[in-house]
Amino acid sequence: MPTYEAVIGLETHIQLNTASKIFCACKADSWDDAPNTNICPVCTGLPGVLPVLNQAAVEKAALLAAAMGAELQPESFFDRKNYFYPDLPKGYQISQYDQPLARGGAMDLPTGDGQTRRVNIHKLHLEEDAGKTVNRADGARLIDFNRCGVPLVEMVTGPDLRSADEAAQYLIRLRQLLRWLGISEADMEKGHLRADANVSIREVGSTALNTKTEIKNVNSIDSLREAIKAEIERQTRAVDSGQPIEPWTLGWDEKTGKLSMMRSKETEADYRYFREPDLLPIVLDEEWRAAIGSSLPELPLARRTRFMQQYGLPEYDADILSGERALSDYYEAAVSAYGGDPKRVSNWLMNDILAMLNEGGLSAAELKLTPRYFAEILKLMDAGKVNTPTGKSLLQKVQASGSSPDALVRSESLGQVSDESALRAQAEEVLAANPDQVASYRAGKEALMGWFVGQMMARTKGKADPKTTQRILVELLKQ
Ligand code: ZN
Ligand code: MN
Repeated sequence: MPTYEAVIGLETHIQLNTASKIFCACKADSWDDAPNTNICPVCTGLPGVLPVLNQAAVEKAALLAAAMGAELQPESFFDRKNYFYPDLPKGYQISQYDQPLARGGAMDLPTGDGQTRRVNIHKLHLEEDAGKTVNRADGARLIDFNRCGVPLVEMVTGPDLRSADEAAQYLIRLRQLLRWLGISEADMEKGHLRADANVSIREVGSTALNTKTEIKNVNSIDSLREAIKAEIERQTRAVDSGQPIEPWTLGWDEKTGKLSMMRSKETEADYRYFREPDLLPIVLDEEWRAAIGSSLPELPLARRTRFMQQYGLPEYDADILSGERALSDYYEAAVSAYGGDPKRVSNWLMNDILAMLNEGGLSAAELKLTPRYFAEILKLMDAGKVNTPTGKSLLQKVQASGSSPDALVRSESLGQVSDESALRAQAEEVLAANPDQVASYRAGKEALMGWFVGQMMARTKGKADPKTTQRILVELLKQ
């Protein structure tokens, strides 16, 4: 049997987080609202109304285009994409067809082995969303028009992805980028980010593009990965047994974990595209396009690479710390306030502070434990002023109270006890109170050292300097 490789392209729809819809003043995000409460004559397609383009939608889409390295077109147009469906009240969707907002662009996807996979984007365009059809158990079909006219960006990749995992990685990186830029909530469960996958297979070494199928209605990254895997396996079995691949549209059933055929694919000509006569072209002059480009922040993949180079972080750390913009800003602020080993800051951040963020459902920008306070606690530990367990609890106390670490160390007398004579006196008391353990230790049961240290910690409420304590205990127990 020949070996095959998968050829996968993703078509994504991204809901922009503008306040209002793309062509009217209705609220754009109506996830929590009752059906048909955020609608008006424009987004429900009543006769005689005119759409007005939302500038914020153009700006946000342009920012994404710039981040993808796509070229913003000086002039682009809206078109009508005609089809008949109950949740599309106008009978057409306002979209962009042959003159889109931006062309070209790519994302360089880290593949984990230090290599990258370039995923090309053919074009990026603006369009409006359709409504939502709800099929009720009693057979009734209900329609909610709230989503009509919500601004979307459609972005289609080339057939550049080679496995289900790469497709999932692309979506993960895209979601990260959208949140980083602050242009979409990118929550797949709420439909802010939707992906359809085109899948075909070919023999390894071939450059042919064979007949592809399209997988629709996948609403999580895990489902997308599973659905693509299942389809690659299905196509492989079909080709090996001599059956042709038909250009089907497939749906993914979350509950059964199975693909089902939805319909044989429509061709583009069915949509009878023509120019939208009620909207002017989008004209973006050179100055405006340049301003968008220069307003771009450092992007997550660039920051990830810089973290490895500038701070000597392993790929794993750099990946996590650049996962979210607020977290990576927090890390850099803490490194600069600390002034010591950046890896030490990373270790503490990834263990204690990430746990704190996850437990509280917080963003790093919301922490009362500011990067400066975090750095101060690291310095207190480095200087031996507090020990590690106290340092850990100090992180929690600062987060709970918002007080500075120094103030807490003073007010709660958390300072580490490293005064020799005080510790020696305590240790003598511990030994005097536990003659049996002392005898066993002296008889060779040296594992009891941990127990003695524990007694000392209990007496000093965890403030004893562990190194000094152990040295004193060893000395006293020798006698
Ligand atoms: Zn409206
Ligand atoms: Mn579309």
